[in-house]
Amino acid sequence: MKRTEISIEFFPPQTPEGVEKLRATRAKLAQLNPEFFSVTYGAGGSMRERTFAIVREIAAEGLSAAPHLSCIGSTKESIRAILDEYQAENVRRIVTLRGDLPSGMVDAGEFRYANELVEFIRAETGDTFSLEVAAYPEWHPQAKSPEQDLAAFVNKAKAGANSAITQYFYNVDAYFHFVDAVRSKGVDIPIVPGIMPIAGFTKLARFSDATGAEIPRWMRKKFEGFGDDTDSIRAFGLDVVTELCEKLLAGGAPGLHFYCMNQSALTTEICKRLGLAGQD
Ligand code: FAD
Repeated sequence: MKRTEISIEFFPPQTPEGVEKLRATRAKLAQLNPEFFSVTYGAGGSMRERTFAIVREIAAEGLSAAPHLSCIGSTKESIRAILDEYQAENVRRIVTLRGDLPSGMVDAGEFRYANELVEFIRAETGDTFSLEVAAYPEWHPQAKSPEQDLAAFVNKAKAGANSAITQYFYNVDAYFHFVDAVRSKGVDIPIVPGIMPIAGFTKLARFSDATGAEIPRWMRKKFEGFGDDTDSIRAFGLDVVTELCEKLLAGGAPGLHFYCMNQSALTTEICKRLGLAGQD
């Protein structure tokens, strides 16, 4: 049977205890044989050193690490320095983003959109890095229109992206509609769905409002009905997300990217249910 590639995303912890905990989480998730672990990056370089540190740890464990790199608020010189560092560290994949300006930061820097970062990395380093870009099946919250957002995605692909990872979503039709729309523009890079396992509802609802991911009414109502019953929330969340993954894979999704929130249990359980846990 064809191997289904998975990848898993971490954020760099803020404390030494968090870093230690992440080591244990990573050891468990490494058993799923992910294609790579990605590590998020603070826009404007705010988490730069922490991202580097986790990336180095992952590489030192013999695993594949993909740092995220956002360009808003950055100069070409600062991005060039980061690329030099990643080349020296043997990093071969970067998740290439615009990012959002942190509050209080006003200087947008020398890059406006992610396609400009993709172009810059290609011009500076040729094919050294495999470049992932972000995709939004339910459209980016700041996009002027779906057409404009689609055009922005196509620009990123044409600038030299190898592959895309989507924002998370729970509406499977949005993904397939997005993929069809991209293909109709003559772009054929893989578009890997981003999967957010559901650990709790209140935080997820707040986060989803900010990121523009819809939680369908039927799911929202069920979660609200569970109140503080965390076991039921967890069980329902696992069922819903596993079913989402099944539909995505059955419909031709090229893999799955898990937003594991630095936790191993839900991602591991979903992969077990999908029969992906013992893959070589
Ligand atoms: P872009 O592709 O540049 O798009 C941003 C907005 O600009 C969109 O609305 C787009 O339609 C519009 N746009 C693009 N080009 C043009 C143009 N020429 N004219 C007019 N409008 C245009 N954030 C972080 O800070 N750190 C991370 O590590 C991080 N990781 C992420 C990983 C994934 C997989 C995803 C999906 C998102 C991640 N984000 C991260 C969030 C991301 O940085 C934000 O969503 C950000 O607002 C947009 O980044 P982008 O790369 O999609 O930007």
